[in-house]
Amino acid sequence: MPIIRVALDVPVNTLFDYLVPDSEITPQDTGARVRVPFGRNTMTGVIMEVTTHSPVPLEKLRHAAHIFRDVPPLPRVLLDLFHFCSGYYHHPVGEVVMNGLPNRLRSGKPFTRKSHTSHQFRLTTAGQSIDSSTIPARSVVKHRLLAKLRGAEAISISEARQISSRAAKIMRELLTLGWVEEVHASLSPIGTVDEALPLPVLTAAQKSAVDVIAPRINEFNTWLLHGITGSGKTEVYLRLISLLLRQARQTLVLVPEINLTPQLEANFRRRFPAIRLVSLHSGLSPSERAAGWLQAQQNEAQIILGTRLAVFTPLPRLGLIIVDEEQDTSFKQQEGLRYSARDVAVFRAKQARVPVILGSATPSLESYYSAVTGRYIRLRLSTRAVKNAMLPTVHCVDIRGTRAKDSLSDPVITALERCLAAGQQSLVFINRRGYAPVLLCRSCGWTAACHRCASRLVVHLREKKLRCHHCGHQEHFPNACPECGDQDIAPFGHGTQRVEAALIHRFPNARIIRIDRDSTSRKDAWHRMLKDIQEQRVDILVGTQILAKGHDFPNLSLVTILNSDASLYSTDFRASERLFAQLMQVAGRAGRAGIHGEVLIQTEFPDHPLYHALRRHDYDALAQMLLEERRTAAFPPFVYQALLHAEAPRIATALDFLASAASVAQPSKEVEVFDPVPAQMARLKGMERAYLLVQSGSRKKLQEFLAAWRTRLETLPGRKVRWILDVDPLEF
Ligand code: ADP
Ligand code: ZN
Ligand code: ZN
Repeated sequence: MPIIRVALDVPVNTLFDYLVPDSEITPQDTGARVRVPFGRNTMTGVIMEVTTHSPVPLEKLRHAAHIFRDVPPLPRVLLDLFHFCSGYYHHPVGEVVMNGLPNRLRSGKPFTRKSHTSHQFRLTTAGQSIDSSTIPARSVVKHRLLAKLRGAEAISISEARQISSRAAKIMRELLTLGWVEEVHASLSPIGTVDEALPLPVLTAAQKSAVDVIAPRINEFNTWLLHGITGSGKTEVYLRLISLLLRQARQTLVLVPEINLTPQLEANFRRRFPAIRLVSLHSGLSPSERAAGWLQAQQNEAQIILGTRLAVFTPLPRLGLIIVDEEQDTSFKQQEGLRYSARDVAVFRAKQARVPVILGSATPSLESYYSAVTGRYIRLRLSTRAVKNAMLPTVHCVDIRGTRAKDSLSDPVITALERCLAAGQQSLVFINRRGYAPVLLCRSCGWTAACHRCASRLVVHLREKKLRCHHCGHQEHFPNACPECGDQDIAPFGHGTQRVEAALIHRFPNARIIRIDRDSTSRKDAWHRMLKDIQEQRVDILVGTQILAKGHDFPNLSLVTILNSDASLYSTDFRASERLFAQLMQVAGRAGRAGIHGEVLIQTEFPDHPLYHALRRHDYDALAQMLLEERRTAAFPPFVYQALLHAEAPRIATALDFLASAASVAQPSKEVEVFDPVPAQMARLKGMERAYLLVQSGSRKKLQEFLAAWRTRLETLPGRKVRWILDVDPLEF
């Protein structure tokens, strides 16, 4: 009897074998979802292999309950991608596979596509190659139905019924056989690539980028499209996508946060009105997401726009992958399978022998270094695309000796006034939401802390609440200090709400909006705000980095940055890189459409090299300096790292576990194992956390080490400890 090897969402790195009756399975079912008994429950998994052998004795194998044929099986290449991720990230294969599926398909319920249009049916490749002479002559209806299907792109069920009233039943039979498949009637046939005209004339830099990539559009290369803000990277993407569409191939576009980039989606739709685009992100309902995923898998969508998870979408005609804002840390998943969608994208492109384009104004040092060493090919766009749009001038406002700190200094207020008078928009950037980051007792120094996390509670004044931004815990504002009873407790420091309040007070007639995760959490709120900004119903925008990403605000001429100093001297070796990228991005919002832009940075360290580089818009100078620092200190990209995270109710338990993990490790000349230490966020959601760092100058050696180590970790007694490996970690 055939045996299927099934990937299940359980934290053990193995596949599980089940029996299936001969009549119910073929090798083509590899990649199908399946319902199987597991312990006392049943679970949904994916068939990774159909075989006849099992290391488990036959009599111990259980029977699979049901094989789903609601959607086509996952293609082989996708299963290979899952295997690669499981191997590279040293993560249980079943969790990797199930992580890659839309939620809706992980459940035990079969998926039916809801549709308001009538369904049509067409022959699959298998159906096209059926030899009619093998079908008994007496099956007249079947013969006529197949003939009709051959003669048309697709037919509806009512067209089928014209043959016979039994045609519908036979169509279902053909569906089960995999000879026909369903398509949406509303979908036009593929092939109308027509772009909405006229196309903009490319800048010299855009043209040379397109001219370099275009002849190599069907081969694997990693292109680093390094273009300053406003240089028109999107237009380069669009030209290349157009080439692929003409080859009837699909493009996968990964973006950091899709809710924040409706502009990109609108741009794409406007350019290719007849092309089907699906977007895949967490804002969709499970069914919507599954439906979009299925359209991609069926080659009914040619452009797939999505957040990191979309990197696992099945794409039978994949021709190009684009990762926009490749430096963005949200491409890295920080829980469960800790993959980097950017790195997986590069692997996937290589696997599919198609190009991948990493776009950024401030590439990650890893990607930049890969370009320096020739692994990636860097293309520069160094001028703004719109005529007369210049990069903004950047000034530091020295606040040493003033009382402004992170609230508004006099030069900033003057600049805002000037901007208002000129009828232009300005942006006040403060990367901290809430009213104030701390509630402080002036008498004894008590601060409000989260009891579940090693963090302070943030003051949300309007709601009269204290909130933890790490676990979501919230509590009421105390009337007096819980330590000393003094009533002199007050918010300390500034968040977006407090700056907004200060601005309203200072500029009572200005139209001010605040944009942060709190103000945009309701569906469509962000959309409306964006529209208000575009249609000039806003004078001053106050907000966090949500504002920084990729938006085009044509009438924005002033950007002020309030409290960036804290990141200059952080213990995180990536802090400077991130701060620079973030400030370049925010600064890049100013002066995009031909009006002169100005950026003011309030700082106590105006001579810091990072601000120097920012003033000159000199990414390369800073990147080279930071790379030199990293080389000296032996940090990535000069070494490869992995973390073993452990969390437990008590820190001692976590540290003990890590100590035994270190004792079973086999370090070598090439692989260094460090001592266990508490994590930067030592308590989170009531769990205490620690980690152990492993690093090596050789990725291969590190991988070999991790593979051997992992099997030994699984045998360690670790009750009450949850542990996980994080390869190429970004957070410590
Ligand atoms: P980036 O993503 O590189 O920051 P965008 O792709 O958002 O830049 O482009 C910035 C602006 O320049 C957009 O308004 C875009 O429509 C415009 N633009 C891009 N290419 C051209 C071009 N060749 N001619 C005129 N305008 C252009
Ligand atoms: Zn007190
Ligand atoms: Zn908390």
